[in-house]
Amino acid sequence: MNEIATSRKTPLLLVVDDELVGRIYIEKALQSEGYDVITAENGQQAYEMAKQHLPNMIIMDVMMPVMDGYQSCVAIRAEEQQLKVPILMLTGLDDIESVEKSFDSGATDFIVKPVNLAIFKQRVRHGLNMRQADLEIYQQHIRQTHAYKIAKMGYWEWEMEANQLYFSDEVYEMLAISREEINDTRDALRARMSIDDFQRIKSASEATIKQGIPYSVEHHVIRPDNQTQIVHHHAELIKNEQGQVVRMFGIIQDITARYLADEQIRHQLYYDSLTDLPNRTLFHEHLDKALKTPSRITDGLAILHINLDRFKNINDSYGPEIGDKFLILIANKLNQVTRSTDLLARVGADEFSFVFEGIRSNDGAEKVANKLLKIFEDTHCIGNYELIITASIGITLSSPNNCDKETLLQQADLAMQHVKEVGGNQFCFYSEQMVSGAYQALIIEKELRRALERDELVLFYQPKVCVNTGIVKGMEALIRWQHPDKGLVSPFNFIPIAEETGLIIQIGKWVFEEACRQTRLWHKQGYDNLTVSINVSAKQFHHQDFEADILNAIEITGIDPHCIDLEVTESCTMNNIEKAISILKRFRDMGIQISLDDFGTGFSSLSLLNQLPLDTLKVDIAFIRDINEKGENGELAKLIILMAKTLGLKTVSEGVELQHHIDFVKDNGGDEYQGFLFSKPVPAADFELVLARNSQQIEAVKAS
Ligand code: C2E
Ligand code: MG
Ligand code: MG
Repeated sequence: MNEIATSRKTPLLLVVDDELVGRIYIEKALQSEGYDVITAENGQQAYEMAKQHLPNMIIMDVMMPVMDGYQSCVAIRAEEQQLKVPILMLTGLDDIESVEKSFDSGATDFIVKPVNLAIFKQRVRHGLNMRQADLEIYQQHIRQTHAYKIAKMGYWEWEMEANQLYFSDEVYEMLAISREEINDTRDALRARMSIDDFQRIKSASEATIKQGIPYSVEHHVIRPDNQTQIVHHHAELIKNEQGQVVRMFGIIQDITARYLADEQIRHQLYYDSLTDLPNRTLFHEHLDKALKTPSRITDGLAILHINLDRFKNINDSYGPEIGDKFLILIANKLNQVTRSTDLLARVGADEFSFVFEGIRSNDGAEKVANKLLKIFEDTHCIGNYELIITASIGITLSSPNNCDKETLLQQADLAMQHVKEVGGNQFCFYSEQMVSGAYQALIIEKELRRALERDELVLFYQPKVCVNTGIVKGMEALIRWQHPDKGLVSPFNFIPIAEETGLIIQIGKWVFEEACRQTRLWHKQGYDNLTVSINVSAKQFHHQDFEADILNAIEITGIDPHCIDLEVTESCTMNNIEKAISILKRFRDMGIQISLDDFGTGFSSLSLLNQLPLDTLKVDIAFIRDINEKGENGELAKLIILMAKTLGLKTVSEGVELQHHIDFVKDNGGDEYQGFLFSKPVPAADFELVLARNSQQIEAVKAS
């Protein structure tokens, strides 16, 4: 395209005539019309100047020395940039032969000599306008071609009556077919597709003709170099002015890159990056689908949950790199047992789950389990190492009455854990007795031990707020268990088991140290009056190491003992009240404060309240929760607060969820409160935000 000629504001015309007078005559006439004009004396010169200046139009005499008009015309046309420049030839009157010759040489128009100026000017204007229109169409075409190229798209047209098919260049390029190579493009298309894909397009096209609705199909294209492309194919019918369907118009877009990117994302989402096995997400989706297919439920499916025994040892002894290689090897070996309808997924670090469909009895599942266990009889070679490992397999079978996904997974897991209990290296079917309380407790105990090792326990903090000033005075440390499968587990679900099994000693020690460490940190940040309340269970309280552990924690964290508040319960005093009193006294002598928690919810002895060396009484949520806006149902809370005041104890009211709960506590002389209204127990990082917000609010109130 001649960019210079198109971008010019005033058209530049080249006038070529060997006769000076004629040349000047035309030059002046054109200049008077506002055009820029350059001139040449012969065909050769005209050719040179055309090349150099790229004029918008050439007006050229036919008869000239050196190189005549025809020759010059041919030479100019041969130049790529000049292909479309309008050339107006000046011919002799009625010289039909030279007119013909002019057109043959590539001229676009002619005018006879002597020149009639009025007509000549019209012809020039018309020639330039035509050229402009030509250029605009051409530019539009170029833009369209660019757009198609960028979108990796081509189009085709099928003239239905003549049964002629036209494909744009881009389609030929996309399918890697040359126009010459294959005449019938339909054949070419067929050769580039699978039979299935071709059939799909054919059916879609037939439906479009029948129903008049466009079709969209995605299919593969196999190029001669065996590269596969994915294309999006869309076609619709085109009607003429009379509303009759005359042709079908379609686009084909190469969407391979997008498809591959989508595939990659899908792969990352659904497959384990180490072993390339389906991951937990895909496993759950697969199971959901399988359990929703009615025939699958009646046919039954088996879930086999495999956990490698003592895999940690391999990681610890040989390093994580060998550990990873080992997992890949095991994954491959396990995968060889699967059939196309089965699914094997890696659901945890050293855990795999199988879903086998169409299994009706224990026998079928047993066979599979035996095959799997056989894999572990061999030694596994990783580089120079020969490793041996066993596995524990828990199995459960679905049935029409047992087809809830979560339940089935829990069953397979319980069965697997049972195998672990008895030493691993075998399989076991789930049975109902595994859900008994004692059994569950056993499992929780085992998991709790692991939780301690793997730092799965965390402390949340709930602010204790002054009823009158709204200032945060301290916080209660409340334990949570960040369970890898179950998420955040409430202390209600594991503290009782920890107490029964004695694990509470270790847990309590950790809680104490962690709470002191965190509080000391906040003191250093400037919140130096915060008191931390730490819950102590009866078993912990009576343990021989209890006092030593606390002293040790105080020493290593450097916390001021005055900022510690031990929350004990009445059960701490059971059996030996004298001993309890003396322990508490020793703590108080060190400056530690003592709170009585859960008061009024157990056996509650009023005389006890009098004897114990206490600082604070916690008013349990049970006494606050039901107080209504009129203050009804608050009698017991009122009594407890009054009693505490009489004994010179501070009160902290728990479970304050509504504004009128605070109003009630305030009206009845309560000191501090904690509850969801101000804040739920939150992780340490969030507690810092609570502190910052509280300081700001207090400052704002002071300033106003
Ligand atoms: P607790 O010591 O009486 O703790 C107060 C409980 O009330 C906490 O439950 C707290 O989240 C909840 N709570 C606070 N404000 C509200 C409220 O406005 N509405 C309601 N509905 N509940 C509120 P959490 O954290 O689940 O702890 C439960 C119990 O577990 C504690 O009762 C305590 O007995 C025990 N516990 C928690 N952490 C530890 C610990 O580190 N060691 C020991 N031994 N026991 C702990
Ligand atoms: Mg408490
Ligand atoms: Mg309490």
